[in-house]
Amino acid sequence: MGLVPTMGALHDGHLSLVRAARAACDAVAVSIFVNPTQFGPNEDFALYPRTFEADCALLADTGVDVVFAPAPVEMYPAGSATFVDVEGLSGRLDGASRPGHFRGVATVVARLFIAAEPDRAFFGQKDAAQVAVLRRMVAGLRIGTEIVVCPIVREADGLALSSRNVYLSAEERRQALVLSRAVREVERLVACGERRAAALLAAGRAVFAEEPGVRVDYIEVVDWATLLPVEVAGPGTLFAVAAWVGATRLIDNAVL
Ligand code: AMP
Repeated sequence: MGLVPTMGALHDGHLSLVRAARAACDAVAVSIFVNPTQFGPNEDFALYPRTFEADCALLADTGVDVVFAPAPVEMYPAGSATFVDVEGLSGRLDGASRPGHFRGVATVVARLFIAAEPDRAFFGQKDAAQVAVLRRMVAGLRIGTEIVVCPIVREADGLALSSRNVYLSAEERRQALVLSRAVREVERLVACGERRAAALLAAGRAVFAEEPGVRVDYIEVVDWATLLPVEVAGPGTLFAVAAWVGATRLIDNAVL
């Protein structure tokens, strides 16, 4: 059984995970749950797009066996007091700017794994830090579910698909391309033989400087397993960026 955890507002990135699950598993379940514990107090939990009917239609077309869409009280009954915290990793990259975010992610994914007992669970490389946290969680708790990571699905112009892209105005949509441009530029340098993190970071920052309206949250060259900075890129090195485009926080990355 394959499980694809999502927060709904499904797009082709989510569906790529569903297709990967279908290809690898006899039965596929998709969860749709806007998980309150992974949102900070001033984040977009209330605003987050909820398109349940359209999501179900897409999943029916893609051949999903089960859709699990619990109410918050079903996942977190009154008095819930048990959380999963992957120490260290939880405070890096997105966890540094979104305190408590990865504790919420690890907790809800652990609960989904306990509920569904999937053989495999499918996640997008788009959320690369999340993948690192969840890999460490299943190893640390000796959970038998295999984590499968699928490539980032992009628009034709490079923008990584995200449920939050609907927040962008036309001008912000144009500005948002700076994230994928920075990622591509760093990939290009690596293909040319550059390995020094300082040079890769400088190149990434230079691309962001072309779009001063976009506020960088982080630009990092890290080991994908530990999320700690490396000085020289090698196998398993992650280049990751997060930035605010207007009021919308977007992320992108490449495994170098
Ligand atoms: P979300 O609904 O945003 O929590 O995402 C659910 C899953 O879909 C996560 O594993 C994401 O990494 C994955 N995902 C989101 N956007 C993309 C994308 N553009 N390409 C591939 N996977 C994605």
